[in-house]
Amino acid sequence: MFNQLGDQLEGVFKTLRGQGKLSEKNIADAMQQIRVALLEADVAYSVVKTLIASIKEQALGEKVLKSIKPGEQIVKIFSDELIELLTHDSKEISLAPPAHFLICGLNGAGKTTTAAKLANFYKKQGKKPLLVACDLYRPAAIEQLATLARQIDVPCFCPPAGMTDVAQAVKLALDWSKQQSSSLVIFDTAGRQEIDGSLIMELQNIHGLIQPQETLLVVDGATGQQAVSVAESFDKAVKVTGLVLTKLDGDARGGAALSVTQVTQKPIQFIGEGEKIGDLQAFDAKRLVDRILGMGDMVSLVEKAAEAITEEQAEKTAKRLESGQFDFNDFLEQLKMMQNMGPLEGLMGMIPGMSKMKAQMPAAGMDDKKIKHMEAIVLSMTKQERSQPEILKPSRRERIAKGSGTTLMQVNQLLKQFNQMKQMFGSQTKMKQMMGAMGGGMPDMANMDPAQLQTLMGGMGKKSKKRAPGRRF
Ligand code: GDP
Repeated sequence: MFNQLGDQLEGVFKTLRGQGKLSEKNIADAMQQIRVALLEADVAYSVVKTLIASIKEQALGEKVLKSIKPGEQIVKIFSDELIELLTHDSKEISLAPPAHFLICGLNGAGKTTTAAKLANFYKKQGKKPLLVACDLYRPAAIEQLATLARQIDVPCFCPPAGMTDVAQAVKLALDWSKQQSSSLVIFDTAGRQEIDGSLIMELQNIHGLIQPQETLLVVDGATGQQAVSVAESFDKAVKVTGLVLTKLDGDARGGAALSVTQVTQKPIQFIGEGEKIGDLQAFDAKRLVDRILGMGDMVSLVEKAAEAITEEQAEKTAKRLESGQFDFNDFLEQLKMMQNMGPLEGLMGMIPGMSKMKAQMPAAGMDDKKIKHMEAIVLSMTKQERSQPEILKPSRRERIAKGSGTTLMQVNQLLKQFNQMKQMFGSQTKMKQMMGAMGGGMPDMANMDPAQLQTLMGGMGKKSKKRAPGRRF
């Protein structure tokens, strides 16, 4: 999401940065382009208007025009304004026990998935969440929540089959939850295709019974302007306390996601970035804005690495790289860890300066399929070959190509990359240089292939372990 907006803004800022001095005309032109980019991305008109007016006023100020790098200053102003726009009343989620969360939204917005993701999120923080299914219209929805709950080993209340009275179901759920000694109960509710009177009444009914601390509205980030009016209607009905924006991993234009908090004056609390249970993050405006502006999101990447890679594994990799002992067994382990981190495309988008490359990935062969091929090649090697890659002479390579269903060229290519990678990470100094570079824009990342990237990420897990997963930054 936000790819097109990001690309357009990048173009405007590149022009601005390239100019030593800025005139009112330059600034007006740039503002016009930014305005078009935001509107094309589906950001609400009222929001664009206010945003542009505020940036323009600051950009035309003496301080900016007379500064040495006016272009940079304007980018900074824009970034600050966007962060401000997204941080509406950055109130913390209330978890005072017994905490009840009511999850509401239209059908398909991602309520059930989000309910389970939230349970998983808080379970990881040491809480004991419970899930409650309140959608009596769709037995499949109850089953969906129960299945997800089993996956994450969280108790889930399912209303008895055939029950049609939501109030009765909620009362049973409340009784059940009291016996569970839990600190957080998450209620998943029924949605509709669109808002109607019966949905509102049902929600108000549930709301009255459970008295939630948090009423979280799940908004599909890909639905465009409609998202804003939907949010307003839900708020009127049940006083929404926070928003969860889902599907930010998709390729929709995303502008509505940027407007919804401003228009509704409700804070975004979480964002959903994929279908998997772990694809939920506490919302952080700066991180999102950095991503839109192509500055990458290293924090998310490092967090993902930390979840997929244990401290011990990372330590071992770093040691083996430093001592030059890194072999294909280590490489295989690294591939597995990388796969645990999710699709390569998603990871690339988080690396500063890589969003452009992301679009070219399949063309350049940098996709998840390539990783699968690499894995097949290594799995076709004998134990001895994996630990002593130097014995991989042409006849062995041919056998490996046959065994792995790849070509000799692919095997040769992998060996070449493996050797380059060993050289690159071979000395401790180089490794440290890479680590240092990560903080400052990672200039070499754009030239790396998946194998090099994933090895680097193995090292990152080690660095990142100091951060608690799920913590806000
Ligand atoms: P509900 O009807 O509101 O309960 O929606 P569901 O939780 O059943 O989700 C509808 C669809 O959206 C499912 O296929 C989910 O896997 C998918 N989904 C939910 N959240 C996300 C997200 O953040 N990203 C992506 N790509 N898909 C999501």
